[in-house]
Amino acid sequence: MAFEWISYFDCAACGAVERADAVGYDSLGYPECPACGARTGPLAGADAAARTGIEALD
Ligand SMILES: [Zn+2]
Repeated sequence: MAFEWISYFDCAACGAVERADAVGYDSLGYPECPACGARTGPLAGADAAARTGIEALD
């Protein structure tokens, strides 16, 4: 049975949603957003959210 699993990358910084196979990775293995260039990860995601003020967008 053929089954193609497509996963998506959800950018924490700009909110872009891209196919995971279109996303590049940095030297630490964190995905880099093709739309804004932000890296997301355990540390980078929190940092990106703080920089762009996502918390304030209510
Ligand atoms: Zn982004």
